[in-house]
Amino acid sequence: MLNKNRIEFEKKTVTKMVGFYCKKLHRCQGILCPECAALLEYSHKRLDKCVYQNDKPTCSKCTIHCYKPDRRQQIRDVMRYSQPRMLLRQPHLVLLHAIEGLFNKKHKKKGKKGSPPSQG
Ligand SMILES: [Zn+2]
Repeated sequence: MLNKNRIEFEKKTVTKMVGFYCKKLHRCQGILCPECAALLEYSHKRLDKCVYQNDKPTCSKCTIHCYKPDRRQQIRDVMRYSQPRMLLRQPHLVLLHAIEGLFNKKHKKKGKKGSPPSQG
């Protein structure tokens, strides 16, 4: 069922999350502050352009990390704040738990070899 309107569903959810976050942290009532509004618009655009569209599994399983790093950080903060709090009231959004996987980057440790500069 959800697959049919996957994108719409995710849009609604992210709207709720950002709304919740903005209301609690930025004291905005009903209308988002410009910063949050921009973030929300951005995330909607990403969904619009999602290559998988209605075939998309969940963002967590998506292999394409389409968010820019700064936006990803922002939405990550929103998720981290809103998710646990919203889950208490709106358990159906537990599905969205999955979305967080999108932002869990695998840590790559760069093996730095400390080669000393030329010794004379
Ligand atoms: Zn805000």
